[in-house]
Amino acid sequence: MPTEAQRVTDNRGAADRGLMERLVSLCKRRGFIFPSSEVYGGLASAWDYGPLGVALKNRLRDLWWREMTQLHDNIVGLDASILMHPQVWQASGHVDHFTDPLVDCRNCKSRFRADQVDIAGPCPTCGKTELTDPRQFNMMFRTHLGPVEGGGTEIYLRPETAQGAYVNFKSVQQSSRLKVPFGIAQVGKAFRNEITTKSFIFRTCEFEQMELQYFVHPDDADRWFEHWRERRFDYYQQLGIRAAKLRLRPHADDERAHYARAAEDIEYEFPFGWQELEGIHNRGDYDLTQHMTVSGKDLSYLNEETKERYVPYVVETAVGLTRTVLVALLDGYAEDEVEGESRTVLRLHPRVAPITVGVFPLVKKDGLAELARDIEEELRESFATFYDQGGAIGRRYRRQDEIGTPFCVTVDYESKDDDTVTIRYRDSTEQERVPRSELVAKVRAAMVEYARPEEGD
Ligand code: ATP
Repeated sequence: MPTEAQRVTDNRGAADRGLMERLVSLCKRRGFIFPSSEVYGGLASAWDYGPLGVALKNRLRDLWWREMTQLHDNIVGLDASILMHPQVWQASGHVDHFTDPLVDCRNCKSRFRADQVDIAGPCPTCGKTELTDPRQFNMMFRTHLGPVEGGGTEIYLRPETAQGAYVNFKSVQQSSRLKVPFGIAQVGKAFRNEITTKSFIFRTCEFEQMELQYFVHPDDADRWFEHWRERRFDYYQQLGIRAAKLRLRPHADDERAHYARAAEDIEYEFPFGWQELEGIHNRGDYDLTQHMTVSGKDLSYLNEETKERYVPYVVETAVGLTRTVLVALLDGYAEDEVEGESRTVLRLHPRVAPITVGVFPLVKKDGLAELARDIEEELRESFATFYDQGGAIGRRYRRQDEIGTPFCVTVDYESKDDDTVTIRYRDSTEQERVPRSELVAKVRAAMVEYARPEEGD
Protein backbone atom coordinates (compact mmCIF):
# COMPACT_ATOMS: atom_id res chain seq x y z
CA MET A 1 0.00 0.00 0.00
CA PRO A 2 1.39 3.41 -0.86
CA THR A 3 1.81 5.72 2.12
CA GLU A 4 0.61 9.32 2.08
CA ALA A 5 4.16 10.47 1.36
CA GLN A 6 4.20 8.24 -1.68
CA ARG A 7 1.10 9.91 -3.10
CA VAL A 8 2.44 13.44 -3.31
CA THR A 9 2.35 15.27 -6.59
CA ASP A 10 5.22 17.72 -6.21
CA ASN A 11 8.58 17.27 -7.88
CA ARG A 12 10.85 16.19 -5.06
CA GLY A 13 14.43 15.19 -5.48
CA ALA A 14 17.66 16.58 -6.77
CA ALA A 15 18.95 15.74 -10.21
CA ASP A 16 21.99 13.51 -10.36
CA ARG A 17 23.01 13.49 -13.98
CA GLY A 18 26.47 12.17 -13.13
CA LEU A 19 24.84 8.96 -11.97
CA MET A 20 23.32 8.40 -15.40
CA GLU A 21 26.68 8.84 -17.10
CA ARG A 22 28.35 6.40 -14.72
CA LEU A 23 25.61 3.87 -15.30
CA VAL A 24 25.76 4.15 -19.10
CA SER A 25 29.50 3.60 -18.91
CA LEU A 26 29.14 0.58 -16.60
CA CYS A 27 26.47 -0.91 -18.88
CA LYS A 28 28.74 -0.68 -21.88
CA ARG A 29 31.90 -1.87 -20.12
CA ARG A 30 30.27 -4.90 -18.53
CA GLY A 31 28.02 -5.94 -21.39
CA PHE A 32 24.59 -4.86 -20.21
CA ILE A 33 23.67 -2.37 -22.92
CA PHE A 34 25.51 -1.12 -26.01
CA PRO A 35 24.65 1.70 -28.41
CA SER A 36 23.04 0.10 -31.48
CA SER A 37 25.13 -0.28 -34.66
CA GLU A 38 28.04 1.39 -32.94
CA VAL A 39 30.54 0.47 -35.63
CA TYR A 40 28.57 2.81 -37.89
CA GLY A 41 28.45 5.55 -35.30
CA GLY A 42 25.27 4.34 -33.57
CA LEU A 43 21.62 5.12 -34.18
CA ALA A 44 19.99 7.78 -32.03
CA SER A 45 18.12 6.24 -29.14
CA ALA A 46 18.53 2.62 -30.23
CA TRP A 47 20.26 0.26 -27.81
CA ASP A 48 21.32 -3.38 -27.88
CA TYR A 49 21.11 -5.61 -24.84
CA GLY A 50 24.36 -7.50 -24.30
CA PRO A 51 24.82 -10.78 -22.41
CA LEU A 52 24.09 -9.37 -18.95
CA GLY A 53 21.45 -6.94 -20.20
CA VAL A 54 19.38 -9.60 -21.88
CA ALA A 55 19.65 -11.79 -18.77
CA LEU A 56 18.43 -8.90 -16.60
CA LYS A 57 15.63 -8.03 -19.01
CA ASN A 58 14.48 -11.65 -19.24
CA ARG A 59 14.43 -11.94 -15.46
CA LEU A 60 12.27 -8.83 -15.10
CA ARG A 61 9.98 -10.12 -17.84
CA ASP A 62 9.70 -13.58 -16.24
CA LEU A 63 8.99 -12.12 -12.80
CA TRP A 64 6.25 -9.92 -14.27
CA TRP A 65 4.81 -12.89 -16.13
CA ARG A 66 4.77 -14.98 -12.95
CA GLU A 67 3.20 -12.17 -10.97
CA MET A 68 0.55 -11.42 -13.59
CA THR A 69 -0.37 -14.89 -14.92
CA GLN A 70 0.94 -17.77 -12.81
CA LEU A 71 -0.40 -16.34 -9.56
CA HIS A 72 -3.94 -15.98 -10.95
CA ASP A 73 -6.32 -18.55 -12.33
CA ASN A 74 -8.20 -15.98 -14.42
CA ILE A 75 -5.34 -14.27 -16.26
CA VAL A 76 -4.00 -15.81 -19.45
CA GLY A 77 -1.25 -14.89 -21.88
CA LEU A 78 -1.29 -13.68 -25.46
CA ASP A 79 1.38 -12.94 -28.04
CA ALA A 80 -0.28 -10.90 -30.77
CA SER A 81 1.63 -9.85 -33.86
CA ILE A 82 3.31 -6.48 -34.16
CA LEU A 83 1.74 -5.87 -37.58
CA MET A 84 -2.03 -5.58 -37.37
CA HIS A 85 -4.86 -4.65 -39.72
CA PRO A 86 -4.62 -0.88 -40.29
CA GLN A 87 -8.24 -0.40 -39.25
CA VAL A 88 -7.24 -1.42 -35.72
CA TRP A 89 -5.44 1.90 -35.39
CA GLN A 90 -8.28 3.81 -36.95
CA ALA A 91 -10.70 2.29 -34.46
CA SER A 92 -8.40 2.72 -31.47
CA GLY A 93 -8.04 6.43 -32.15
CA HIS A 94 -4.31 6.25 -32.75
CA VAL A 95 -4.51 7.51 -36.34
CA ASP A 96 -6.30 10.65 -35.21
CA HIS A 97 -5.09 11.15 -31.66
CA PHE A 98 -1.70 9.51 -31.15
CA THR A 99 0.15 12.73 -31.71
CA ASP A 100 2.60 14.90 -29.89
CA PRO A 101 2.89 18.64 -30.43
CA LEU A 102 6.16 19.29 -32.26
CA VAL A 103 8.18 22.50 -32.54
CA ASP A 104 11.25 22.98 -34.73
CA CYS A 105 14.09 25.43 -34.29
CA ARG A 106 14.27 27.46 -37.51
CA ASN A 107 17.94 28.11 -36.87
CA CYS A 108 19.54 24.78 -35.87
CA LYS A 109 16.68 22.45 -36.95
CA SER A 110 16.47 20.74 -33.54
CA ARG A 111 13.04 19.30 -32.73
CA PHE A 112 11.28 19.33 -29.39
CA ARG A 113 8.02 18.26 -27.87
CA ALA A 114 6.14 21.51 -27.37
CA ASP A 115 5.07 20.41 -23.88
CA GLN A 116 8.70 19.92 -22.86
CA VAL A 117 10.11 23.34 -23.80
CA ASP A 118 9.15 26.94 -23.29
CA ILE A 119 7.91 27.64 -26.80
CA ALA A 120 8.17 31.39 -26.30
CA GLY A 121 11.73 31.09 -25.03
CA PRO A 122 15.08 30.42 -26.70
CA CYS A 123 15.88 27.14 -28.45
CA PRO A 124 17.38 24.84 -25.77
CA THR A 125 20.04 23.68 -28.26
CA CYS A 126 21.33 26.84 -29.96
CA GLY A 127 19.91 29.52 -27.70
CA LYS A 128 18.13 31.48 -30.46
CA THR A 129 14.45 32.36 -30.23
CA GLU A 130 13.50 30.73 -33.47
CA LEU A 131 10.97 28.08 -32.56
CA THR A 132 8.07 27.36 -34.93
CA ASP A 133 4.45 27.18 -33.79
CA PRO A 134 3.53 23.72 -32.50
CA ARG A 135 2.08 21.25 -35.03
CA GLN A 136 0.72 17.79 -34.37
CA PHE A 137 3.00 14.89 -35.25
CA ASN A 138 1.70 11.30 -35.37
CA MET A 139 4.05 8.98 -33.54
CA MET A 140 3.20 5.75 -35.33
CA PHE A 141 5.80 4.25 -37.64
CA ARG A 142 4.31 3.56 -41.07
CA THR A 143 5.40 0.87 -43.48
CA HIS A 144 4.07 -1.13 -46.43
CA LEU A 145 2.81 -4.66 -46.56
CA GLY A 146 3.64 -6.23 -49.90
CA PRO A 147 6.65 -5.91 -52.17
CA VAL A 148 5.63 -2.79 -54.07
CA GLU A 149 5.73 0.47 -52.21
CA GLY A 150 2.47 2.25 -52.77
CA GLY A 151 0.90 -0.86 -54.31
CA GLY A 152 0.29 -2.72 -51.08
CA THR A 153 -1.39 -1.78 -47.87
CA GLU A 154 -0.05 0.93 -45.64
CA ILE A 155 0.32 -0.49 -42.16
CA TYR A 156 1.77 0.54 -38.81
CA LEU A 157 4.19 -0.90 -36.31
CA ARG A 158 2.07 -1.21 -33.18
CA PRO A 159 2.59 1.67 -30.74
CA GLU A 160 1.23 -0.40 -27.84
CA THR A 161 0.53 -4.08 -27.26
CA ALA A 162 -2.94 -3.49 -25.78
CA GLN A 163 -4.92 -3.55 -29.03
CA GLY A 164 -3.89 -7.17 -29.62
CA ALA A 165 -5.79 -8.12 -26.47
CA TYR A 166 -8.93 -6.19 -27.49
CA VAL A 167 -9.24 -7.63 -30.99
CA ASN A 168 -8.62 -11.12 -29.58
CA PHE A 169 -10.95 -10.58 -26.62
CA LYS A 170 -13.66 -12.94 -27.84
CA SER A 171 -11.27 -15.66 -29.11
CA VAL A 172 -9.41 -15.72 -25.82
CA GLN A 173 -12.54 -15.64 -23.68
CA GLN A 174 -14.30 -18.42 -25.58
CA SER A 175 -11.28 -20.69 -26.16
CA SER A 176 -10.27 -20.48 -22.50
CA ARG A 177 -13.87 -20.51 -21.21
CA LEU A 178 -13.21 -17.48 -19.05
CA LYS A 179 -15.80 -15.55 -17.09
CA VAL A 180 -15.59 -11.82 -16.42
CA PRO A 181 -13.54 -10.66 -14.56
CA PHE A 182 -10.55 -12.05 -16.40
CA GLY A 183 -7.31 -10.72 -17.78
CA ILE A 184 -5.07 -10.98 -20.82
CA ALA A 185 -1.37 -10.43 -20.20
CA GLN A 186 1.09 -9.64 -22.92
CA VAL A 187 4.75 -8.77 -23.31
CA GLY A 188 6.12 -7.50 -26.57
CA LYS A 189 7.74 -4.82 -28.65
CA ALA A 190 6.10 -1.51 -29.37
CA PHE A 191 7.30 1.33 -31.57
CA ARG A 192 6.84 5.07 -31.28
CA ASN A 193 8.47 7.73 -33.39
CA GLU A 194 9.30 9.80 -30.32
CA ILE A 195 10.31 13.40 -30.97
CA THR A 196 12.75 13.53 -28.14
CA THR A 197 14.54 10.39 -27.14
CA LYS A 198 16.94 10.90 -24.32
CA SER A 199 18.08 9.58 -21.00
CA PHE A 200 19.53 6.30 -22.20
CA ILE A 201 16.83 3.59 -22.44
CA PHE A 202 14.16 5.66 -20.67
CA ARG A 203 12.46 6.73 -23.89
CA THR A 204 13.32 4.94 -27.10
CA CYS A 205 11.55 4.48 -30.42
CA GLU A 206 11.61 0.69 -30.09
CA PHE A 207 10.84 -0.68 -26.65
CA GLU A 208 9.13 -3.54 -24.88
CA GLN A 209 5.92 -3.33 -22.92
CA MET A 210 4.33 -5.59 -20.34
CA GLU A 211 0.60 -5.00 -20.25
CA LEU A 212 -2.40 -6.49 -18.55
CA GLN A 213 -5.90 -5.86 -19.88
CA TYR A 214 -8.36 -6.84 -17.16
CA PHE A 215 -11.97 -7.12 -18.35
CA VAL A 216 -14.55 -6.32 -15.68
CA HIS A 217 -18.22 -5.52 -15.22
CA PRO A 218 -18.67 -1.72 -15.56
CA ASP A 219 -19.99 -1.49 -11.99
CA ASP A 220 -16.79 -3.08 -10.67
CA ALA A 221 -14.29 -1.02 -12.66
CA ASP A 222 -13.47 1.49 -9.89
CA ARG A 223 -12.80 -1.29 -7.41
CA TRP A 224 -10.53 -3.18 -9.81
CA PHE A 225 -8.71 0.02 -10.71
CA GLU A 226 -7.84 0.50 -7.05
CA HIS A 227 -6.94 -3.16 -6.66
CA TRP A 228 -4.46 -3.14 -9.53
CA ARG A 229 -3.02 0.23 -8.58
CA GLU A 230 -2.18 -1.02 -5.08
CA ARG A 231 -0.95 -4.41 -6.25
CA ARG A 232 1.30 -2.98 -8.93
CA PHE A 233 2.71 -0.38 -6.55
CA ASP A 234 3.59 -3.06 -3.99
CA TYR A 235 5.15 -5.21 -6.69
CA TYR A 236 8.07 -2.83 -7.22
CA GLN A 237 8.96 -2.98 -3.56
CA GLN A 238 8.94 -6.76 -3.75
CA LEU A 239 11.45 -6.41 -6.58
CA GLY A 240 13.69 -4.57 -4.15
CA ILE A 241 13.12 -1.04 -5.48
CA ARG A 242 13.48 1.50 -2.66
CA ALA A 243 10.12 2.72 -1.40
CA ALA A 244 11.34 6.33 -1.11
CA LYS A 245 11.95 6.39 -4.86
CA LEU A 246 8.38 5.38 -5.76
CA ARG A 247 5.16 7.31 -5.71
CA LEU A 248 1.68 7.29 -7.22
CA ARG A 249 0.48 10.28 -9.21
CA PRO A 250 -3.11 10.62 -10.40
CA HIS A 251 -3.48 12.21 -13.83
CA ALA A 252 -5.01 15.66 -13.99
CA ASP A 253 -8.25 15.91 -15.99
CA ASP A 254 -6.56 17.56 -18.98
CA GLU A 255 -3.74 15.00 -19.00
CA ARG A 256 -5.76 11.82 -19.36
CA ALA A 257 -5.65 9.96 -22.66
CA HIS A 258 -8.80 10.16 -24.80
CA TYR A 259 -9.88 6.66 -23.75
CA ALA A 260 -9.19 6.90 -20.00
CA ARG A 261 -11.85 7.36 -17.33
CA ALA A 262 -9.24 7.23 -14.59
CA ALA A 263 -5.47 7.13 -14.80
CA GLU A 264 -2.70 7.02 -12.26
CA ASP A 265 1.03 6.65 -12.80
CA ILE A 266 3.50 4.78 -10.68
CA GLU A 267 6.47 7.11 -10.82
CA TYR A 268 10.11 6.56 -10.04
CA GLU A 269 12.53 9.28 -9.06
CA PHE A 270 15.01 9.13 -11.94
CA PRO A 271 18.19 11.25 -11.80
CA PHE A 272 16.31 13.68 -14.09
CA GLY A 273 13.23 13.86 -11.87
CA TRP A 274 10.01 11.97 -11.15
CA GLN A 275 8.79 10.19 -14.27
CA GLU A 276 6.30 7.52 -15.21
CA LEU A 277 7.29 3.91 -14.82
CA GLU A 278 3.85 2.34 -15.16
CA GLY A 279 0.38 3.59 -15.99
CA ILE A 280 -2.82 2.17 -14.49
CA HIS A 281 -5.89 3.11 -16.52
CA ASN A 282 -9.59 2.55 -16.42
CA ARG A 283 -10.23 2.53 -20.18
CA GLY A 284 -13.97 2.02 -19.81
CA ASP A 285 -15.61 0.22 -22.74
CA TYR A 286 -13.92 2.55 -25.21
CA ASP A 287 -11.72 0.02 -27.00
CA LEU A 288 -14.16 -2.87 -27.31
CA THR A 289 -16.95 -0.54 -28.39
CA GLN A 290 -14.75 1.09 -31.01
CA HIS A 291 -13.72 -2.28 -32.43
CA MET A 292 -17.35 -3.41 -32.46
CA THR A 293 -18.37 -0.29 -34.37
CA VAL A 294 -15.56 -0.33 -36.92
CA SER A 295 -15.37 -4.12 -37.49
CA GLY A 296 -19.09 -4.76 -37.22
CA LYS A 297 -18.36 -7.81 -35.01
CA ASP A 298 -20.02 -8.37 -31.68
CA LEU A 299 -17.52 -8.13 -28.83
CA SER A 300 -20.03 -8.02 -25.99
CA TYR A 301 -20.04 -10.54 -23.17
CA LEU A 302 -22.95 -12.64 -21.96
CA ASN A 303 -23.13 -13.57 -18.31
CA GLU A 304 -24.60 -17.07 -18.64
CA GLU A 305 -26.03 -17.03 -15.13
CA THR A 306 -27.74 -13.64 -15.04
CA LYS A 307 -28.27 -13.46 -18.85
CA GLU A 308 -26.95 -9.92 -18.72
CA ARG A 309 -25.15 -8.91 -21.93
CA TYR A 310 -22.72 -6.02 -21.75
CA VAL A 311 -19.46 -4.61 -23.06
CA PRO A 312 -16.86 -5.08 -20.31
CA TYR A 313 -14.76 -2.23 -19.03
CA VAL A 314 -10.99 -2.59 -19.16
CA VAL A 315 -8.59 -1.84 -16.34
CA GLU A 316 -5.11 -1.75 -17.82
CA THR A 317 -1.69 -1.90 -16.21
CA ALA A 318 0.99 -0.83 -18.70
CA VAL A 319 4.69 -0.73 -18.01
CA GLY A 320 7.79 -0.59 -20.16
CA LEU A 321 10.03 -3.62 -19.71
CA THR A 322 13.02 -1.68 -20.94
CA ARG A 323 12.11 1.21 -18.62
CA THR A 324 11.96 -1.30 -15.75
CA VAL A 325 15.49 -2.41 -16.66
CA LEU A 326 16.61 1.21 -16.26
CA VAL A 327 14.87 1.50 -12.89
CA ALA A 328 16.46 -1.72 -11.63
CA LEU A 329 19.92 -0.55 -12.69
CA LEU A 330 19.58 3.00 -11.37
CA ASP A 331 18.04 1.91 -8.10
CA GLY A 332 20.67 -0.75 -7.57
CA TYR A 333 23.67 1.40 -8.44
CA ALA A 334 25.76 2.33 -5.42
CA GLU A 335 29.31 3.26 -4.58
CA ASP A 336 30.69 2.42 -1.18
CA GLU A 337 33.95 1.57 0.51
CA VAL A 338 35.23 -1.87 1.39
CA GLU A 339 38.44 -2.20 3.38
CA GLY A 340 39.49 1.31 2.45
CA GLU A 341 38.85 0.79 -1.26
CA SER A 342 35.95 2.26 -3.14
CA ARG A 343 33.76 -0.16 -4.99
CA THR A 344 30.80 0.02 -7.37
CA VAL A 345 28.01 -2.33 -6.50
CA LEU A 346 24.66 -3.07 -8.09
CA ARG A 347 22.31 -3.89 -5.24
CA LEU A 348 19.92 -5.88 -7.40
CA HIS A 349 17.45 -8.17 -5.72
CA PRO A 350 18.81 -11.75 -6.06
CA ARG A 351 15.74 -12.71 -8.10
CA VAL A 352 16.56 -9.93 -10.54
CA ALA A 353 20.37 -10.20 -10.78
CA PRO A 354 21.63 -11.66 -14.10
CA ILE A 355 24.01 -14.00 -12.25
CA THR A 356 23.01 -15.45 -8.90
CA VAL A 357 26.19 -17.22 -7.82
CA GLY A 358 29.82 -16.64 -8.77
CA VAL A 359 32.13 -19.59 -8.07
CA PHE A 360 35.88 -19.19 -7.66
CA PRO A 361 38.82 -21.40 -6.71
CA LEU A 362 41.16 -19.52 -4.39
CA VAL A 363 44.00 -20.57 -6.67
CA LYS A 364 44.01 -22.55 -9.89
CA LYS A 365 46.43 -25.25 -8.78
CA ASP A 366 46.33 -28.25 -6.45
CA GLY A 367 42.97 -29.45 -7.72
CA LEU A 368 41.04 -26.39 -6.46
CA ALA A 369 40.02 -25.33 -9.97
CA GLU A 370 38.58 -28.80 -10.68
CA LEU A 371 36.71 -28.85 -7.38
CA ALA A 372 35.30 -25.34 -7.96
CA ARG A 373 34.21 -26.33 -11.48
CA ASP A 374 32.46 -29.36 -10.07
CA ILE A 375 30.59 -27.23 -7.54
CA GLU A 376 29.67 -24.68 -10.18
CA GLU A 377 28.28 -27.40 -12.44
CA GLU A 378 26.15 -28.67 -9.58
CA LEU A 379 24.87 -25.18 -8.77
CA ARG A 380 24.00 -24.31 -12.38
CA GLU A 381 21.15 -26.81 -12.24
CA SER A 382 19.44 -24.46 -9.77
CA PHE A 383 20.91 -20.99 -10.36
CA ALA A 384 22.51 -18.76 -12.97
CA THR A 385 26.21 -19.19 -12.19
CA PHE A 386 29.51 -17.77 -13.33
CA TYR A 387 32.89 -19.43 -12.93
CA ASP A 388 35.98 -17.24 -12.62
CA GLN A 389 39.50 -18.32 -11.81
CA GLY A 390 41.41 -15.28 -13.05
CA GLY A 391 43.16 -12.70 -10.86
CA ALA A 392 43.23 -11.89 -7.16
CA ILE A 393 40.18 -13.04 -5.23
CA GLY A 394 39.34 -9.45 -4.17
CA ARG A 395 39.28 -8.38 -7.84
CA ARG A 396 36.99 -11.27 -8.68
CA TYR A 397 34.57 -10.23 -5.92
CA ARG A 398 34.60 -6.64 -7.20
CA ARG A 399 33.82 -7.76 -10.73
CA GLN A 400 30.76 -9.62 -9.47
CA ASP A 401 29.71 -6.74 -7.16
CA GLU A 402 29.69 -4.41 -10.13
CA ILE A 403 27.24 -6.59 -12.08
CA GLY A 404 25.05 -7.29 -9.08
CA THR A 405 25.89 -10.95 -8.32
CA PRO A 406 24.51 -11.40 -4.79
CA PHE A 407 26.48 -14.49 -3.75
CA CYS A 408 30.01 -15.72 -4.39
CA VAL A 409 31.31 -19.13 -3.41
CA THR A 410 35.02 -19.62 -2.87
CA VAL A 411 36.76 -22.97 -2.82
CA ASP A 412 40.00 -23.12 -0.82
CA TYR A 413 42.37 -25.73 0.59
CA GLU A 414 40.07 -26.43 3.52
CA SER A 415 37.32 -27.31 1.03
CA LYS A 416 39.38 -30.27 -0.14
CA ASP A 417 39.68 -31.60 3.39
CA ASP A 418 36.22 -31.07 4.85
CA ASP A 419 33.92 -30.36 1.89
CA THR A 420 33.05 -26.87 3.08
CA VAL A 421 33.13 -23.64 1.05
CA THR A 422 32.93 -19.94 1.81
CA ILE A 423 29.85 -18.03 0.76
CA ARG A 424 30.30 -14.28 0.51
CA TYR A 425 27.39 -11.84 0.48
CA ARG A 426 27.54 -8.90 -1.91
CA ASP A 427 25.86 -6.21 0.21
CA SER A 428 27.52 -6.84 3.56
CA THR A 429 30.69 -8.47 2.11
CA GLU A 430 30.38 -10.89 5.03
CA GLN A 431 31.61 -14.42 4.57
CA GLU A 432 30.32 -17.64 6.00
CA ARG A 433 31.65 -21.20 5.91
CA VAL A 434 29.05 -23.79 4.89
CA PRO A 435 29.11 -27.47 3.97
CA ARG A 436 28.95 -27.98 0.23
CA SER A 437 25.88 -30.19 0.68
CA GLU A 438 23.96 -27.22 2.15
CA LEU A 439 24.92 -24.72 -0.51
CA VAL A 440 21.80 -24.91 -2.67
CA ALA A 441 19.47 -24.61 0.33
CA LYS A 442 21.57 -21.77 1.74
CA VAL A 443 21.42 -19.72 -1.47
CA ARG A 444 17.69 -20.42 -1.85
CA ALA A 445 17.02 -19.22 1.70
CA ALA A 446 19.16 -16.12 1.22
CA MET A 447 17.17 -15.26 -1.92
CA VAL A 448 13.88 -15.54 -0.07
CA GLU A 449 15.09 -13.62 2.97
CA TYR A 450 16.89 -10.91 1.02
CA ALA A 451 16.51 -7.40 2.39
CA ARG A 452 18.44 -4.50 1.01
CA PRO A 453 20.56 -2.72 3.63
CA GLU A 454 19.27 0.65 4.80
CA GLU A 455 21.25 3.53 3.38
CA GLY A 456 20.95 7.21 2.63
CA ASP A 457 19.68 8.00 -0.85
P1 ATP B 1 5.02 9.05 -21.86
O1 ATP B 1 4.02 10.02 -21.29
O2 ATP B 1 6.26 8.86 -21.03
O3 ATP B 1 5.30 9.21 -23.32
P2 ATP B 1 2.84 7.25 -22.06
O4 ATP B 1 1.98 7.77 -20.97
O5 ATP B 1 2.55 7.56 -23.47
O6 ATP B 1 4.36 7.60 -21.75
P3 ATP B 1 1.86 4.60 -22.07
O7 ATP B 1 1.27 4.70 -23.41
O8 ATP B 1 0.96 4.58 -20.89
O9 ATP B 1 2.98 5.69 -21.89
O10 ATP B 1 2.81 3.33 -22.07
C1 ATP B 1 2.92 2.49 -20.96
C2 ATP B 1 4.35 2.36 -20.51
O11 ATP B 1 5.21 2.05 -21.61
C3 ATP B 1 4.94 3.62 -19.91
O12 ATP B 1 4.60 3.71 -18.54
C4 ATP B 1 6.43 3.40 -20.09
O13 ATP B 1 6.96 2.59 -19.03
C5 ATP B 1 6.50 2.62 -21.37
N1 ATP B 1 6.85 3.48 -22.50
C6 ATP B 1 6.03 4.31 -23.19
N2 ATP B 1 6.71 4.93 -24.17
C7 ATP B 1 7.99 4.48 -24.09
C8 ATP B 1 9.18 4.75 -24.83
N3 ATP B 1 9.18 5.57 -25.87
N4 ATP B 1 10.31 4.12 -24.47
C9 ATP B 1 10.33 3.25 -23.42
N5 ATP B 1 9.25 2.96 -22.69
C10 ATP B 1 8.08 3.56 -23.02
